[in-house]
Amino acid sequence: MSNCLFCKIIAGEIPSTKVYEDDTVLAFRDIAPQAPTHILVIPKTHIGSVAEITAENSAVVAHIFEVIAAIAKAEGLKNGYRVVSNCGDDAGQTVHHLHYHILGGKKLAVEMA
Ligand code: AMP
Ligand code: ZN
Repeated sequence: MSNCLFCKIIAGEIPSTKVYEDDTVLAFRDIAPQAPTHILVIPKTHIGSVAEITAENSAVVAHIFEVIAAIAKAEGLKNGYRVVSNCGDDAGQTVHHLHYHILGGKKLAVEMA
């Protein structure tokens, strides 16, 4: 996707603070952290949001969750953490490339809506 911010980060056209990278997944620190640890985990292929996950592309989503668990361990989030994916306008999604927020390092607010 030529006009996608996260595709540009994957391509190295926009800098990011990388936490983890392999052939299919990239993780980097959020530019406006909402918690002491705030990391975004994204597929290297462009998927717009959770709404675009299908049987054909979901293998990378399973891998993303393995990566999330490993990153949380590496970051020392022993007391827990939250994994969030905003999907669409009502959820406030601002970057339309599938991403999972890892939030931790403090006691998080419990409000879900
Ligand atoms: P969402 O609102 O769920 O779509 O999340 C998008 C996230 O991307 C926000 O938390 C932003 O702070 C973050 N973000 C936007 N631009 C960048 C960037 N260049 N590098 C890292 N994170 C970014
Ligand atoms: Zn993209």
